[in-house]
Amino acid sequence: MADIIHLLPDSVANQIAAGEVIQRPASVIKELVENSIDAGADKIKINIKDAGKTLIQVIDNGCGMSETDARMAFERHATSKITKAGDLFSIHTKGFRGEALASVAAIAHVVMKTRPHNEETGIEIAIEGSKVTGQDPVQCDPGTNIAVKNLFFNVPARRKFLKSDNTEFRHIIVEFQRAALSHPGIAFIVVHNNNEIYNLPPENTRQRIIHTIGRHINSSLTSLNTDTSIAGVKGYIGKPELAKKTFGEQFFFVNNRYMRHPYFHKAVMKAYDRILPPETVPSYFIFLDTDPGKIDVNIHPTKTEIKFEDEAAVFQVIMASVKEALGKFNLTPSIDFNSEGSINIPVTGRDTEVKPPVIDVDPHFNPFDKEKPGKVYRGHGHRAGRVEKDWEKLYEGFEDPLDHPDSFKITDENVQTRIESLVATFASHGYLQIKGKYILTTVKSGILLVDQKRAHERILFEKFMRQEQQQIQAAQKQLYPESIELDPADFNLLKDILDEINGIGFDISEFGKNSVIVNGCPSEITNSRPAELIDHILGEFKSTGGDIKITAREKIARSLACTAAIGYDKVFEEEEMRELIDKLFACENPNYSPSGKAILSIIELNELEHRFR
Ligand code: ADP
Ligand code: MG
Repeated sequence: MADIIHLLPDSVANQIAAGEVIQRPASVIKELVENSIDAGADKIKINIKDAGKTLIQVIDNGCGMSETDARMAFERHATSKITKAGDLFSIHTKGFRGEALASVAAIAHVVMKTRPHNEETGIEIAIEGSKVTGQDPVQCDPGTNIAVKNLFFNVPARRKFLKSDNTEFRHIIVEFQRAALSHPGIAFIVVHNNNEIYNLPPENTRQRIIHTIGRHINSSLTSLNTDTSIAGVKGYIGKPELAKKTFGEQFFFVNNRYMRHPYFHKAVMKAYDRILPPETVPSYFIFLDTDPGKIDVNIHPTKTEIKFEDEAAVFQVIMASVKEALGKFNLTPSIDFNSEGSINIPVTGRDTEVKPPVIDVDPHFNPFDKEKPGKVYRGHGHRAGRVEKDWEKLYEGFEDPLDHPDSFKITDENVQTRIESLVATFASHGYLQIKGKYILTTVKSGILLVDQKRAHERILFEKFMRQEQQQIQAAQKQLYPESIELDPADFNLLKDILDEINGIGFDISEFGKNSVIVNGCPSEITNSRPAELIDHILGEFKSTGGDIKITAREKIARSLACTAAIGYDKVFEEEEMRELIDKLFACENPNYSPSGKAILSIIELNELEHRFR
């Protein structure tokens, strides 16, 4: 048989490698900015056109490159940052794989001008799809200026799968925030379609957080500062009560490199245990400092996943450090700081168990608990002690004509008649509220339990979905106009879906650069501030961004319903419970919340009988 294996031409190999390193315009920004940081720049300007689809240009005042280096830089596995395998264990630079520029040049039109500080002139190199098309001396400033045009021009499948400009731009902003936050000493300017989005001077970490994430975060932050022999932990965390329902303000850095680390995220969440409002995540900006030999950066081409030699110990250090910082908010009053200043964890060897510093936290303390746990609430304000006596009441409804909640499913056209007949059915029922969370009533087949928050979410969701244009004005609540400042990415997204949001009962208009003004909101919303609602809606769009099956209206209705629904601590009067249940069973789908969680549960009669056997 003839030999059939051959080496791929460099241009093809580079294009394949590019698939891993460069997924979208944001990846180009990441790689180019990292190169500028590695080149020692203290000023980096990023110029973007059409969310990077047309142009991404990064200009720095770093060390620049000689003519030979400028040419070499585009070869695969060409790097100035490491020379031998051993160097992999002491990485101090962002890059070291030597494949970013080769990858970018394989899938775009690239023009680079670069000049070392001690040279009079620079060199300009043009490359298209890995082919050098020009190389000439040029007059330019010291440093490097790379323009990447027409990304994926020769990879139509990739180009086609790029998302809308707003989505791609959001990815760019996220990537930029990671770079800007990890290097507050570097000045950054970001311009998109000739609009200046960021202009950040060299500053300290706290100022950088405020300038990249938004001024709203200022009052929320408290600092972390722990030094241990395993890792140093510095940074800022947010107040628990200002935690958000969506992700976006959670950042881990190790040795000034952004990393994704779901396991360490758990360490933070554990430290915040029981002091967060339900279903929220706190903001955090945590900078770990560790011996580069103790981490492996090279487990993924984009280097955002990082392996730690001793993850369990670092987990404990992070958790202890966050708990200590939380103590500063006076939220964990029983914390006992027996050590002054920093916590020190002695490391004696790999097999020795590392004992975290002992911090006593009252596990039952929750500033959001308005009532002590363990109570059963009844309609009409009866107290817990009466409940046993009322058990016979639970059996009253067993002869109801209603078999199973599924049989409530509405197929009829006339909602009003349905509601009336259901009201009549349930009118004879007693309702119990359990722990401010569930509503209990009886049906023919047993005991019906309803999750009150999910039920209300379902009711609001269907209402928002049904709402017709002409009903909106009437259903709108006028607010004292409130202006909200957003980060550029969120602002762009909001602009994109503004018609849909207003179509559901908001009255929001643009209000200058990166701001909107809220004049009205749907009347159902009683428990949330406009800023919080908008935040949540945007969060929903970010998390389900790729899901085209869900319409914009549905996403908005869903997140709005979720935010506006009554919480689990709401104590009901019997009448209110009746109304909630009636409205629930008038819904198209009373079984599941808009996000697909079960609303109803039945304890079957035979199960009850079994219990008393
Ligand atoms: P890596 O960053 O992994 O070394 P790259 O392909 O990103 O690989 O870059 C290749 C080389 O080109 C770098 O090692 C560096 O020497 C040089 N280089 C890239 N960008 C710049 C820049 N902005 N300024 C100076 N040198 C640069
Ligand atoms: Mg690089």
